[in-house]
Amino acid sequence: MSEVVEHVDIAIVGGGPVGAALALALREADLRVALLEARADFAARDPRAIALSQGSRLILERLGAWQRLAGRATPIETIHVSQRGGFGSARLTAAEAGVPALGYTVEYGDLYAALANGLPGSGAALLSGTRVTDVAPAAGCGLVAYERDGRPASLTARLIALADGGRGLPGRTRVKDYGQSAVVCAVRTARPHRNLAYERFTPAGPIALLPLGEGYALVWTTPAAEVEARLALDDTAFLAELGRAFGDRQGAFLAAGPRAAFPLRLVTSTLAERPGLIRIGNAAQTLHPVAGQGFNLGLRDAWKLAEAILDWPREALGDAAFQDRYSAARRWDVAGGIAMTDLLVELFVSELPGVAQARGWALTLMDALPPVKQLFARKMMFGARTW
Ligand SMILES: Cc1cc2nc3c(=O)[nH]c(=O)nc-3n(C[C@H](O)[C@H](O)[C@H](O)COP(=O)(O)OP(=O)(O)OC[C@H]3O[C@@H](n4cnc5c(N)ncnc54)[C@H](O)[C@@H]3O)c2cc1C
Repeated sequence: MSEVVEHVDIAIVGGGPVGAALALALREADLRVALLEARADFAARDPRAIALSQGSRLILERLGAWQRLAGRATPIETIHVSQRGGFGSARLTAAEAGVPALGYTVEYGDLYAALANGLPGSGAALLSGTRVTDVAPAAGCGLVAYERDGRPASLTARLIALADGGRGLPGRTRVKDYGQSAVVCAVRTARPHRNLAYERFTPAGPIALLPLGEGYALVWTTPAAEVEARLALDDTAFLAELGRAFGDRQGAFLAAGPRAAFPLRLVTSTLAERPGLIRIGNAAQTLHPVAGQGFNLGLRDAWKLAEAILDWPREALGDAAFQDRYSAARRWDVAGGIAMTDLLVELFVSELPGVAQARGWALTLMDALPPVKQLFARKMMFGARTW
């Protein structure tokens, strides 16, 4: 695309799923929007599976993306949570939570395609093959410098929405390395999944099995030092090791697809650090995938930012007051998502005396108390601000 864009109301830096969602959410606004994406096209090849919450489904419906995705999504009707080497387990069900499904598993590529297919009709200027090299936000109007076709260029924007996944543009605040990676792949089990997802906590980290199509998507948290060896195993040895770590609730593991690994870190930032700049999605917070919250939280960032933009005078979008409004709208949901995810990671790997027993009692109590289960399920589905 050789479109020349000099000035916009909103520059979205990063056309990943969260940046694309923001562009779609702004499609009916009378605003000039540019979406700048480093990749050559708005397409994604990624081996991840994503668990979408019921709340995300509702947002995707409003963006017109769910209609394209529904046929490829596998409903999660039950979630089984347990710990290896300790008592206690809990089952969350959609029926108890009063929803058709607790969530939906989708392939990352399908999710992205469902969003990206709506972009040409969004009215945004779509600048692919455009790598942003610097952002200089300012109250009133900021500058976005980028490279396209090997040539430097820039545009001005009242508001810069940083959705680059946290890749390199300055200003990050805190990084906590979990010393782990997630090994992901598709697996088949002897028993059919019956729309049942598992979250199994082991001393080395959690193992998630998400029903997807006819089989499962595996997310296996692996200590960093063991990742290469686990990736290098042949399928038979890999499946045997997985069986030993997970147990036999689904019968034997029969087959595994190609494997990939993602290093796991918690990255947090000030949502609105300088007037004229707002971070959303992984650029604002990068979470451990243990609770499947990262994209769900990022999608709510995009949705809430669009709501705030539509409710604010265009000429004042770069003002500090706009940032305060957005930060106030997101603070508790974001803080809750980060705290819950980090707590789960730390609590379930702790081998301190008495902690395994406390975990066991917590799971047993949660299982026995429907109101606690429902509250937990609502937080997972709709975010920390829901009561
Ligand atoms: C193993 C694993 C499993 C996960 N499972 C789940 C789950 O079940 N549920 C869930 O909700 N979340 C899950 N997540 C988290 C989820 O994948 C992320 O939160 C989500 O993909 C973030 O999207 P994003 O658009 O913010 O960032 P990204 O997907 O990183 O997109 C950023 C985009 O910005 C572009 N970009 C970067 N730098 C520049 C630049 N300088 N100029 C222009 N463009 C640029 C990139 O090319 C990219 O397209 C998981 C993550 C992992 C690692």
